[in-house]
Amino acid sequence: APAAHALAVRDLQAWYDESHILHGINFDVAPGEVVTLLGRNGAGKTTTLRAIMGLIGKRTGSVQFENRELIALPARAIAKLGIAFCPEERGIFSSLSVDENLMLPPVIKPGGLSREDVLTMFPNLRERLSSQGTKLSGGEQQMLAIARILRTGAKFLLLDEPTEGLAPVIVQQIGRTLATLKNQGFTIVLVEQNFHFAASVADRHYVVEQGRVIDMIPNTEIQTNLGKLHAYLGV
Ligand code: ATP
Repeated sequence: APAAHALAVRDLQAWYDESHILHGINFDVAPGEVVTLLGRNGAGKTTTLRAIMGLIGKRTGSVQFENRELIALPARAIAKLGIAFCPEERGIFSSLSVDENLMLPPVIKPGGLSREDVLTMFPNLRERLSSQGTKLSGGEQQMLAIARILRTGAKFLLLDEPTEGLAPVIVQQIGRTLATLKNQGFTIVLVEQNFHFAASVADRHYVVEQGRVIDMIPNTEIQTNLGKLHAYLGV
């Protein structure tokens, strides 16, 4: 039977050494959905993505991806199932050119976009093919990071603050990219500080506070929940 949820996270707890950071994260993502994790700095959003991806040594609870349990799997095995993680630092090779970055995706599954496909999606990158990663603008780096992820063939994307530090026009471009991916059937979990951006791309929002998910707000109910959201986010 098809999975009702692409991802189901239940009582996910995680530790950095002796520090207990996640105290029981619960949320679901339906196939084809875009959801955000919102919350203040230090709430545990990045740690949640890292724990799902198997990048935190000590984690307990359950993370089911298409009905398969991930909690005990290493990151490599999780990537092979078709989940890709784009860290806040973007994870591109700064000493390599754009073209070399596009030819070195981390794991390839059938169905990954070709070099030509991603260059059609991100025309700016085509003009920068021979440029070194360090020479790119923040926006170009983010596009390259997403392009690399699309090369892998993953259809489930974990994106950590893709709009951080980017100019408004680039933020809009990334928003259009995510809308295109959603139309193509990708499922996306996004950590966001940019609340307006989150509202423009997501179906639902989970609020993370002190290592727990404390609320869920459908995007259609954002306007009636602005007061609550401002209180959660301290904005
Ligand atoms: P931010 O937007 O600041 O990244 P966040 O909600 O993503 O916020 P996390 O990065 O998940 O928060 O951090 C949650 C907590 O874990 C914070 O208290 C942070 O100090 C702590 N933490 C993060 N990384 C480490 C680490 N490598 N070792 C120890 N503690 C860490």
